[in-house]
Amino acid sequence: MNSNPPTPPTQAPGVVIVTGGSRGIGHAISTLLARRGHGVAINYASTAAPAEELAHAITQAGGRALAIRADMAQPDEIRTLFDRAAELGTLTGLVNNAGITGTRVRIDEQTAQTLDTLFNINIRAPMLAAGEAVRRMSTRHGGSGGAIVNLSSVAARLGGLPGLVPYAATKAAIETFTRGLANEVAREGIRVNAVAPGLTATDMVPPETAKLAETVVPMGRVGHVDEIAQAVAFLLSPASSYMTGSVMTVSGGR
Ligand code: NAP
Repeated sequence: MNSNPPTPPTQAPGVVIVTGGSRGIGHAISTLLARRGHGVAINYASTAAPAEELAHAITQAGGRALAIRADMAQPDEIRTLFDRAAELGTLTGLVNNAGITGTRVRIDEQTAQTLDTLFNINIRAPMLAAGEAVRRMSTRHGGSGGAIVNLSSVAARLGGLPGLVPYAATKAAIETFTRGLANEVAREGIRVNAVAPGLTATDMVPPETAKLAETVVPMGRVGHVDEIAQAVAFLLSPASSYMTGSVMTVSGGR
């Protein structure tokens, strides 16, 4: 038996949709993927200017990018996002990055409405988007395969900071979804993995929470968005060709 590992496939960079791709971690992911030669569909919901600016900067640098508005809470807008992204070429990847923390209050003050919004964006949307991606990338549907990366959080295992328990529960659900979907499409050319960041410097993390990193993070600091993007790009690349159903923690040891 040949004990040498197979050479990873040298798949050419393709087209990746990054939900919430114009701010925070999503901005870093879109930027890094474009640098690596991917066409990037930069999704946004409300902030058009940073999405248009990023798409413009990528195009000026010789890359391919489109800023596409779609509220991920709306199933019909998710479909439109995928249809528009096809203008860049054949889809090879999806990054389910868009997410919200929801209303930061104890469970006895949460309402059905705030929970619905949280679950629609953090869980239902990634599932619906993954469905659209599978329909396009699966060899079962005539596609050529691809990769999906979901953004989880260390909160999935820690239970969340005070007031963020429902948020943490959505991230635990994303990890279970990642493992299950990976099994479902493993023989159809699609790999599905997740990245679980720890405290990362973005608009999602208020300064008092970022300060917590000095004490609760073994490395004593918050993460930088580029440090999360590197893990996502790795999981989309042929370098991770034997990885599926994995959750990669990027948390400074937390
Ligand atoms: P952020 O800076 O608050 O950005 C959130 C992004 O999600 C924005 O681009 C936003 O787009 C988009 N978004 C929100 N609602 C949307 C909707 N309905 N439809 C489409 N896009 C929507 O957040 P971040 O810190 O970069 O977080 C990115 C991901 O990493 C999230 O899934 C988050 O849970 C996860 N994460 C973050 C941390 C952290 O410490 N920052 C830690 C662990 C996990 P608009 O600007 O257009 O609204």
